[in-house]
Amino acid sequence: ATAPAPAPLRASQLQKQITQKPKSRPPNDKLLFGHTFSDHMLTVEWDAKKGWHAPQIKPYGNLSLDPAAKVFHYGLECFEGMKAYKDAQGKIRLFRPDMNMARLNKSCARLTLPTFDSKELLACIKELLRVDQAWIPSEHGYSLYLRPTAIATEESLGVGESSRALLFVIASPVGPYYKTGLKAVSLSATRDYVRAWPGGTGDAKIGGNYAPGIRPQIEVAEKGHQQNLWLFGDEGFVTEVGTMNFFLFWKTPSGERELVTPPLDGTILPGVTRDSILSLTRSWGEFTVSERAVTMREIATACDEGRVLEAFGAGTAAIVSPIRNVWFEGRDVEIPLDPKDKTKQGGPLATRLKKVIEGIQYGEVESEWSVVV
Ligand code: PMP
Repeated sequence: ATAPAPAPLRASQLQKQITQKPKSRPPNDKLLFGHTFSDHMLTVEWDAKKGWHAPQIKPYGNLSLDPAAKVFHYGLECFEGMKAYKDAQGKIRLFRPDMNMARLNKSCARLTLPTFDSKELLACIKELLRVDQAWIPSEHGYSLYLRPTAIATEESLGVGESSRALLFVIASPVGPYYKTGLKAVSLSATRDYVRAWPGGTGDAKIGGNYAPGIRPQIEVAEKGHQQNLWLFGDEGFVTEVGTMNFFLFWKTPSGERELVTPPLDGTILPGVTRDSILSLTRSWGEFTVSERAVTMREIATACDEGRVLEAFGAGTAAIVSPIRNVWFEGRDVEIPLDPKDKTKQGGPLATRLKKVIEGIQYGEVESEWSVVV
């Protein structure tokens, strides 16, 4: 008889074990990003013969892994970052979760980790959210951050694909990135280190992309900047800001207003927020919206000529993060925040985008991007 085909991931097989020792969620003003975790986690094991095992929701706790597990040696790990929100009616909402599922599948495929049916994993995540709904803060700006993660668990030092894997999802209640609304950041344009390169893995959300970025971040922090502005190539193409996508709103040399973000050429993480900002601004039809390469030199020149309107990072953590200046070629290139009000921490476009996206996330603005759990 032939062996049965490996099983797909199936939410209908979900097993639940509820904790006997529930903890209480810390008060909102005590929340530090990624420090506290909810009572439960979702785990799904996989092996090459059986395929996906029954998904499990169980009390949050340590994993037990063999020290030879491939994840510890060759960085076979990828992850996602997404949030669950509670709206004014107490309903649980996710923001474009299909995009996070698709991106996780793409990252898994890049690392030869097993892929899965996005709808099935999403159904399991929704159940985790129902079980841990007391962990979703309801106040505006607060949410439950979800960290889906996949690791290679085969206990072998062979550099090759893993015959065993573990997919898990943990959840952490988080507050607004900046308690006082927007807070503009100071960047340092980084040439000594490169985040991603053509043919590399910059477009996948794998742990191996993040470990090498920590030292460069500390080095610029020692000089008083919050983040690296990652450049690529001799031309100094702007790629990303820390762990966010980059947006520039300016007037082109011919005087046309344009919102620019680098194209998805393989060196850029395809951000959910990036895609949302492109869709929204294109639907407004108020200015040109372009995905194209832009160099730091062009931006510096445009700043000197008074043509830059705003620049900001975009990502799930802060939605938008306005940029106040960039250290580049021995000087701080000053980027305008709000041309009308010097006390503001962000320009009109960044402020508007944050308001619109947050409105959708909390179900105040009707949109198919907001998925009720
Ligand atoms: N770029 C990088 C390198 C990131 O880590 C993230 C955060 N996932 C982003 C961009 C923004 O992506 P998203 O909008 O999906 O959070």
